Amino acid sequence: MSTSFYNPECLFCRIVRGEIPATEVYRNEHVMAFRDITPVASQHVLIIPIRHIASLSDLQSEDLDIAGHILLAARKVAEITGVLDSGYRLVFNNGQDALQSVFHIHGHLIGGRKMGWPPFPGDAIIHG
Ligand code: AMP
Repeated sequence: MSTSFYNPECLFCRIVRGEIPATEVYRNEHVMAFRDITPVASQHVLIIPIRHIASLSDLQSEDLDIAGHILLAARKVAEITGVLDSGYRLVFNNGQDALQSVFHIHGHLIGGRKMGWPPFPGDAIIHG
């Protein structure tokens, strides 16, 4: 197991425990999904492990099950929010360059609007 189950300093651990309110979309024994407080699309849901793991970079081989549960929950959330067929994006911001701001793994499920690619301004292709 990569880290402790509950980190009292962690915003998302506190949401899991109901200490901070959130609009829950889905939950099972492994993961919780709730609406992002600052949505960038009509459907913007965060999918997190119940257990505190700070970032994708902290995942260990024994976390294989939780990685799978997050992806399966994303599929479930896509169904619940009505974007399973229209399409959606699952984004994990990891670390400084990706602007991760909450250090408890979370996938952003975003859907209900057309999106662009790449997900940053500027040239699409970097050579060399
Ligand atoms: P990231 O920048 O990838 O770490 O994403 C963190 C996300 O958490 C942002 O999209 C925030 O809008 C979202 N967020 C922060 N606080 C809350 C909260 N209390 N409830 C729901 N979403 C939140």
